[in-house]
Amino acid sequence: MQFLILSDLHANWRALEAVLANAEGKYRQIVCCGDIVGYNPNPAKVLEWTRTHCAPVVRGNHDKAVAGVDDLESFNDAARESALWTIGKLNQEQLGYLRELPAGPSLVPDFQIWHGSPVDEDEYLSTAQEAAPLFANFGAPLAFFGHTHLQGGFFSKYGRVGGIPQVPRERSEIVFELEPDVLYMFNPGSVGQPRDRDPRAAYAIYDSEKRTVALRRVEYPVKETAAEIKDAGLPEVLGLRLFVGF
Ligand code: ZN
Repeated sequence: MQFLILSDLHANWRALEAVLANAEGKYRQIVCCGDIVGYNPNPAKVLEWTRTHCAPVVRGNHDKAVAGVDDLESFNDAARESALWTIGKLNQEQLGYLRELPAGPSLVPDFQIWHGSPVDEDEYLSTAQEAAPLFANFGAPLAFFGHTHLQGGFFSKYGRVGGIPQVPRERSEIVFELEPDVLYMFNPGSVGQPRDRDPRAAYAIYDSEKRTVALRRVEYPVKETAAEIKDAGLPEVLGLRLFVGF
């Protein structure tokens, strides 16, 4: 079975479209590690697509804030402004869908997904030091998460914890062959707002038969997305950051 693993879509329809075209024929099920909405200009379209095509889906902090599950206190100005804008673009039913999304971790047959960390959905796992203690109570040998918008992740081999690199700029894919006795937490990266200095949309494909995880990147029309952000009246900085992937 092949899984398309998406995270941090953030209402970026053009990036999502590019990912789906690039991954076509390579998967049978789609899972989502949260943050469907926020920052970018197509919340309703991306939400409806996610609702129809992804299972399971866990909630992200932006989904919670827009749904009113959480307040906007921890958000910076641009994030708060985009969350308030997003609330005005979704109908009650769509807000209800976000409100009902489960907190992770969710178990998919042989792997799990969560947004931030398995013990705190809002925690950022950016370093091997932060990830190391979490391998002690790992529910499955493989997990996917998001929240940092940094592609890569972490592994634990006989107690040694290390980092998994993102796809280099000159390539569009790295394939990892999963070893037995090694625990993995992969971050597919962000579809809609990469922050790892690579503006390309990021995603992953897990093949449970071949026991491989492919981290992938694909170009999408950033200029058009930034123009749409500006036209929508969203903070211009949200468009500018897409050009640099930060
Ligand atoms: Zn996010």
